[in-house]
Amino acid sequence: MGIAAATLIAAAAYRYRWLTLDGALSAAVMGSLIFAIGGMVFAAPLVVFFASSSALTRLSDRYKTPIARSMSKSGPRNARQVLANGGVGCLLAMRAAMSGSGSSLSARDWLLLYLTTLAFANADTWATEIGILSRQEPRLVTTMKRIPAGSSGGITIAGTIAALIGAVLIPISAAVVWPIRSVDLLWRIDAAEILAVGWAGWIACFVDSILGATIQRQYHCTKCERTTDLPMHCGTAAPPIEGRRWISNDGVNGIASITSILIAWFLLKSFAWPIR
Ligand SMILES: [Zn+2]
Repeated sequence: MGIAAATLIAAAAYRYRWLTLDGALSAAVMGSLIFAIGGMVFAAPLVVFFASSSALTRLSDRYKTPIARSMSKSGPRNARQVLANGGVGCLLAMRAAMSGSGSSLSARDWLLLYLTTLAFANADTWATEIGILSRQEPRLVTTMKRIPAGSSGGITIAGTIAALIGAVLIPISAAVVWPIRSVDLLWRIDAAEILAVGWAGWIACFVDSILGATIQRQYHCTKCERTTDLPMHCGTAAPPIEGRRWISNDGVNGIASITSILIAWFLLKSFAWPIR
């Protein structure tokens, strides 16, 4: 059932051009693993993330200004982007399935960390797409200077609020489908855990923006004199900016995703989990 559902969703995503062919294939494999290993409590938040972020991306594509369109990567997501967004989550889902009675973290704890990576991915997408819809000019997170829409490291008020809603939606969706009287998952996800997971995902968005504003690979277009994430701009190759060569947008996403887990770990240990 898991494999069928994941394949159907990935096929639909390919059909509607949310994913490229290799993106859809990797999403089908990762989705199948998560569905089959984790069941509904793992799968439902994944579907919420995928459906809501795809729909928002499609919606904001319609209202993007020409500048925003030229600044950001658009079009269907490929395998590398799917892996950058979901790879860590997939590993955590598999780790949850393998945790026996001897391990220090239970399946339930791994599930919460899995939810955190999804919360971050959802928050990140919601922030970007709602930020564009708001038409408010973003400010660079480090200097608070106004920058063109679509540049990395930019934040807006609407995007920041959307990120919080997008982040909290993920643990809430898990709470809704939580298996009653599950032996592995013991008790239902509680409010403190929903807050810890959502908060960690939200804070990681700022980490993502700060890395995007400081160490992410950037190019300078010699035609329009703009800074961009794209190596090709205005129909010509844009040279990379000195000192900003080594980490791609997908790399920044991966680092922020791992950061979200560390933040969640700290928050859960400090405020949600009982002392043991
Ligand atoms: Zn240009």
